[in-house]
Amino acid sequence: MVTIRLHNSKTRTKEAFVPLDPENVRMYVCGPTVYDRAHLGNGRPVVVFDTLYRLLRHVYGADHVTYARNFTDVDDKINATAATRKAAGDPRSMEALIHERTEETIGWYHADMDALGALRPNFEPRATEYIGPMVAMIEGLIAGGHAYAKDGHVLFRVRSYKDYGALSGRSVDDMIAGARVEVAPFKEDPMDFVLWKPSSEEEPGWASPWGRGRPGWHIECSAMSYELLGASFDIHGGGLDLQFPHHENEVAQSCCAHPEASFARYWMHNEMLQVEGKKMSKSLGNFFTVRDLLDQGVPGEVIRFVYLSTHYRKPMDWTAEKAREAEATLRKWREMVSGVEAGEPAASVIEALSDDLNTAGAIAALHDLSRAGDAAGLKASAKLLGLLEDRLGGWAITITDFAPFVARLASLRAEAMTTKDFAPVDALKSALTEAGVEVRMSKAGVDLLPGPGFDPAKLEALK
Ligand SMILES: [Zn+2]
Repeated sequence: MVTIRLHNSKTRTKEAFVPLDPENVRMYVCGPTVYDRAHLGNGRPVVVFDTLYRLLRHVYGADHVTYARNFTDVDDKINATAATRKAAGDPRSMEALIHERTEETIGWYHADMDALGALRPNFEPRATEYIGPMVAMIEGLIAGGHAYAKDGHVLFRVRSYKDYGALSGRSVDDMIAGARVEVAPFKEDPMDFVLWKPSSEEEPGWASPWGRGRPGWHIECSAMSYELLGASFDIHGGGLDLQFPHHENEVAQSCCAHPEASFARYWMHNEMLQVEGKKMSKSLGNFFTVRDLLDQGVPGEVIRFVYLSTHYRKPMDWTAEKAREAEATLRKWREMVSGVEAGEPAASVIEALSDDLNTAGAIAALHDLSRAGDAAGLKASAKLLGLLEDRLGGWAITITDFAPFVARLASLRAEAMTTKDFAPVDALKSALTEAGVEVRMSKAGVDLLPGPGFDPAKLEALK
């Protein structure tokens, strides 16, 4: 069996990956807080850990990997977006508005991540569905002396966990000196963090032994990973920006609640993303969402390729130039593998991915296969990176494939202008729409574009 080596943030070394149970390899990745569209930086961990998921499935078998990624659907930012709608005159209750906001955001997230070719995880738990397990875990922490209740809040007692700071390599005293902590009257120590907080009438809340309230963010992931993957599991992933305090707090909670277990054994963090050499920010005008790019006509597969061309532990720079190059490469490869039966993935590609998910090396190996003319190997190997899959390929259909249909529609329309019978035009239009082709007819002419559900086989049948 292939040995996968992963850089473990916990030990700061590259280690051979040995799962607790090869029959059920378990991975947890922190998911989005669902209050808005995913921006370009949010898409990176999704594609990185999707590629790891594909590699694990290849090595251990598709049925022997369990991947959980949460939706944080209780958060002050969600409440704020709902409150804005209410203030704008929406007559519905805050509860209804919050529900609407989280539902629509989860729908967007699924559509956008599907477009990037990311497989859906086995579990996508929502925080609001795990309030009971969170309350139980908090009660256990209080009983063990690791947490305390004060004024409707429950706080984690950071000084009760001697390894606090080990994951991110910080000492508690340095953190206090760095003044990155909030002092509050209900805290014994400024480092202590919130496990539970009281909710006002307008805010979402649940009954608890400490009054009506809602969970803090960190306890979610500890409770949900425990419920779905157990007290010890294999891999925990997320963006580097989550390492402190979020992951540090997850470790503290989980290891104190289940001291007999190891919690996550391998921690993986992806570096951040920039745009054209600058930090993405709304004030710089270089902030965009995955959907913005898709709407501008950048195919999801191209975005995925650009993400994967930089190793996940290096900062990545999104540039329009890289997107253009990626598009040209994918177009060439798609032409090459068209109609070809996939063979076996190349050893060179598996080797690169197994070396701490060296996706840049894997892409270089794909170029080698392309140069060698190995279309069957290229197709099978690209699949391991989630590239060249049929369902993502609509965009790469060349204009010439549509040309006969453009001509037919134009002549049918010209005919209909004299006969006044538009039925043949409408019939062809609906057949094209049925094949997932977007039909745009104007005075200027006829435009056909592959839509999201484009099906090349159905188009072929219309010829
Ligand atoms: Zn988390």
